[in-house]
Amino acid sequence: IQSTMQDFPLSVAAILRHGARVYGRSECVTWTGGGTPKRATFAEVAVNAERLAAALARLGIRPGDRVATFQWNNQEHLEAYFAVPAMGAVLHTLNIRLFPEQLSHIINHADDQVVIVDDSLVPLLARVVHELPAVEAFVVVGDGDATPLERNGNGAPVLRYHELLAAEEPGFAWPDVDERAAASMCYTSGTTGDPKGVVYSHRSTFLHAMAVQSASLVGITEADRVLAIVPMFHVNAWGLPYGAFLSGATLHMPGPFMQAEHLTAFIEAERSTLASAVPTIWNAILAHGEQRELDLSSLRAGTSGGAAAPRVLLERFEERYGLRIIQGWGMTETSPLGGMAFPPPGVEPGTAEDVDWRMKSGRVAAGVEMRIVNDAGDELPWDGTSVGEIEVRGPWITGAYHRNPAPEKFHDGWLRTGDIGTIDDRGFYQITDRVKDVIKSGGEWISSVELENHLMAHPAVAEAAVIGIPDARWDERPLACVVLRPDAAATAAELAAFLGDKVARWQVPENWTFLDEIPKTTVGKWDKKPLRARYAESDLK
Ligand code: ADP
Repeated sequence: IQSTMQDFPLSVAAILRHGARVYGRSECVTWTGGGTPKRATFAEVAVNAERLAAALARLGIRPGDRVATFQWNNQEHLEAYFAVPAMGAVLHTLNIRLFPEQLSHIINHADDQVVIVDDSLVPLLARVVHELPAVEAFVVVGDGDATPLERNGNGAPVLRYHELLAAEEPGFAWPDVDERAAASMCYTSGTTGDPKGVVYSHRSTFLHAMAVQSASLVGITEADRVLAIVPMFHVNAWGLPYGAFLSGATLHMPGPFMQAEHLTAFIEAERSTLASAVPTIWNAILAHGEQRELDLSSLRAGTSGGAAAPRVLLERFEERYGLRIIQGWGMTETSPLGGMAFPPPGVEPGTAEDVDWRMKSGRVAAGVEMRIVNDAGDELPWDGTSVGEIEVRGPWITGAYHRNPAPEKFHDGWLRTGDIGTIDDRGFYQITDRVKDVIKSGGEWISSVELENHLMAHPAVAEAAVIGIPDARWDERPLACVVLRPDAAATAAELAAFLGDKVARWQVPENWTFLDEIPKTTVGKWDKKPLRARYAESDLK
C-alpha cells in the first residue's frame, strides 16, 4: 500500500524558515577583534538572506547556478549559506588558504558565476582574478579597497554587498526545490591528492543538520552558544550553521580573528558553551593558556575533528580546565559527520577510562552505515581488532564527485574513505591511519598516528609527524619528524627509548629529524607530502 504521508521536500529554505520563525531571537555574533561584536538575530539574518537572494536574482543568478563565497566565518557568510541554496542556486564555499593555481582551478571547475568576498580577502582573490572567465560579478563585503578585483579579464562588475542588499526589499519568495537538487558544494582540502568536488543536496543537508542537533552527535540546543572555529569553507563548518537554525543555538563567528588570544577572549566575553576546531587549534589554545590564565568555564564541551587528537590534548584540557573534548570523524565526502566519540553510559567523566573512550574516532552515527574491508574487499568483523579500510554509505555520504567519476573511490555503492581502522561490537571505530600515511614495514603496518600520539606526550615535544621512508630491507621504515618545545631538549635516543615501552620494538623509528615546524595543510592538518618529498631519498641512515 502507499504511505499516507505528505511528500514534503527537505530543503535549506525549510531550515531557514524554522530558525527565523521559532528561534528568531537567537543570534549570530561576529567577533570584531576587541571592539563591540556585531550582532544579528536569526530573524534579521533571514531578512538579509531574502534581500541577498533578490540581489543575486537581479544579477542573473538562476536555479542551479553556482555562487561562491571567499569569506571568513561571519554574519554575511551565514546569510549566503541560506540565500544561495534557498533560491535554488548552489553555494560553493572556497577555501581561502588554497594556492592560487588550486583556487582558480576549482572556481573554474565549479563554474562559479558570482563570488562573494570579504574585503580583507580581496588581495588573496585578486591573485587569480584574471583567470576566472566564467565569473560575472564580484560582491565585496565591507568598505575596504576592492580595486584589485576590477582588473579582472571579463569586465565583471565589482559590487558592494551592503549596497546590493539595501536596494532590495525583503520577502523573496523561496521557490519549491527538488530535495535531491544541489544545494552546496565543497572541494576536499587535498591532504592526500588533488581537490575533488562534493555536491550536497537539500535533502542531505537537512538530514545532516537534524543529525547535528541529535544528542548522540553534537547535541546543540537553544541554550547553547556555539563558537564555530572550524571555517565555513571546511565542510560546511561541520554542519553547525544549519544545525543552529534547526535547534536555536546562538552562533559565535570569529571572523578573521583565528588566533588563540582572540578565540579565548571571545569565549570569555560571550560565554560560549561549545567550540569546534581541529586539533592544531586546540593545541594553540593550550599553548596560549601557558601565557595567561584562561576562563573556559562557560564551555560545556569542545569538539575536535579533521585529524586524530593526541591523547595529551584531551588530558590537558581535562586537567587544566575541566573541559571535555569529544572527537568526531568525518570528511568532505560525508557532509562531514560520521560519528562522535561519546563514552558509553557508566563511564565516570574525567577518568582515564573516559579519555580512553574519547580517544576513539567516533561511534557510528544514526543515518550512516559503516564497514571495514580487507585488501580483497571482504568485510571484516566488528571485533575492535581487525584492521581494514573504512567504507561508509548513507543519505549524506557522496556517491560520486563533481565532473570526476573517480571509480576507485567507490566499492559496491560504498564510499572508500581511505582511512584504516577498527570497529568494535558497539560501533565505536578507531582510525589508525590513512591508507597513504600508514607505514608498511616488512609486510606489517605501523600506524603513524599512534607513534605521533605517543611522541606528543613527551614533555619536550611540541609537535611530531611520522612518515614512511624507503628502506632497502623493509620497503619502508618510519621517520619521526619532531619539533621540540621552546627551551626543551631531547635526543633521538631518548625519544626512541621513551617509545620503547609503548609500542612494539620493531615499530620504534630509527630515523629521526628535528624541525622548527611541521608543515600544515590549508585546514591545519599535518602536511606529510612535503616531508615525504624532502626525505624520499633519505640520507638519514
Ligand atoms: P582532506 O581529505 O583533504 O584532508 P577532509 O577535511 O575531508 O579533507 O579530511 C577528511 C579526513 O580527515 C578523513 O578521511 C580522516 O583521514 C581525517 N580525519 C577526520 N577526522 C578524524 C579523526 N577524528 N581522527 C582521525 N582522522 C580524522
